[in-house]
Amino acid sequence: MLVPVLIRSRQHVMEFECGRKGRQRDKDERQDQGDCGSNDRTSEGRGSRADHGRGACSRNLHLCQPRKVLALASQAELHHATLHGQEVGPLGEKTVLIDTHTHLDDARFDGDRDTMIARAREAGVEAFITIGCDLATSRAAVSLADRYPFIYATVGVHPHEVKCIGDDWYDELRRLAQHPKVVAYGEIGLDYHYNHSPPKLQRDRFREQVCLARELRLPLVIHTREAQEDTIKILKEEKGSEVGGVFHCFSGDAWLAKDALNLGFFLSFSGVVTFQNATMLRDIMKTVPMDRLLVETDCPYLTPAPHRGKRNEPAYVKLIAEKIAELKDSTEPMSVQEVECHTSQNACRLFKIPYGSPERGQSENVR
Ligand SMILES: [Zn+2]
Ligand SMILES: [Zn+2]
Repeated sequence: MLVPVLIRSRQHVMEFECGRKGRQRDKDERQDQGDCGSNDRTSEGRGSRADHGRGACSRNLHLCQPRKVLALASQAELHHATLHGQEVGPLGEKTVLIDTHTHLDDARFDGDRDTMIARAREAGVEAFITIGCDLATSRAAVSLADRYPFIYATVGVHPHEVKCIGDDWYDELRRLAQHPKVVAYGEIGLDYHYNHSPPKLQRDRFREQVCLARELRLPLVIHTREAQEDTIKILKEEKGSEVGGVFHCFSGDAWLAKDALNLGFFLSFSGVVTFQNATMLRDIMKTVPMDRLLVETDCPYLTPAPHRGKRNEPAYVKLIAEKIAELKDSTEPMSVQEVECHTSQNACRLFKIPYGSPERGQSENVR
C-alpha cells in the first residue's frame, strides 16, 4: 500500500502516521534532522485504547525541502525517511484514495461485489470503510472487513432503524466492536426529513449510542438531516468531542459546518458536491480546512455526476476528489493529488487505519 505524504517547505510540517514505536527512534529523529528538528513532534508510541493507538503512532517531521511537492512512499521508504529526515519517493501521480463511507454489503452489489471492488482498487481506492446501519448490516460490515484486508468496518444503528433496537442489540454491538477492524461507531444521528423512527426516540437512541461509542473509544460517524441543532446539542451534552468523528455526506449549512469543526469533527463530502443545484454546499466546502476534509461515495446511493441515475460504487470517489480540487483551486492552488493526499491522511488519522501493506495492517491493528 502506498502512503500519501505531503512534503512541504522547511517552514511547514509534514505529518504522517506510521507503525513505529519506541522512544529511541524519537531520539534518532532529533539527531538525524539536525537544524530541522522541531519542538512540536508528538509521540504516542504503541497506543492503548484510550489514545486510539492501534499500532499507529503520530509523527511530525520537518523536512529541508525548498518546495512543496507531493510524494507517495511505501512503508519502507517512509520508515527510512523518518529515521533520516529525508525526502521520500518515488514522486508520482498515482491515485491514493480512501472511500470513508460505503455500504458494500448492499444487495445491489450481490451480483458483482468482487469485480466492483477490483474496479475501485484499479481506480486507486486503497481502503474502504463499510458502514453498519443496524445489527444485520453491522455484522455484514464486520464480515466483509474479515474477508478483505483493505476493508474496514463500523457498527451502529442508523436513525431510521433505531425503532428496531432490541434488548440485546447494544451487547451484540459491543461484541462486534471488539473486532480489530472496526474503526468507528455509526452511522448514528438524527434524520427529521424522513422520521422513519419517532424523533424523540431518535434523540434518546442517539444519546445512548454516543455514550456507547465513548465507552468503546471509537470515533463517531454522524448522519444528520434537517436536525442540525439537536445533533450539535446532543453531541455537546454527551461529550462526543471526547472521541470525535465525522459528519458524513455533509449537506448542512455554514452554521453546522462551523459548529462541527469547532467540536473537532471532520466533514466528509460525497457525490452531492457534483450535483448541479448544490451551489451552497460547494461554497461551504471551499471554507473547510484541508486537514478536516474526507471523501466518500455513500455507495450505492448518491452517484456523482456524470453517472447520476446509475448505481454508485467506490471507483467514483475519484470524481469527488476531482471536484473538490477544482473548487478549492479557485481560491488557492490545489491539485487532485493534494486533495487525495490530504483526505487519505485525514482518514488514516481519524480512523487509525494503519499504514503499510493491508496484510500488515490487519495483523498490527490491535485494539
Ligand atoms: Zn447517512
Ligand atoms: Zn450511509
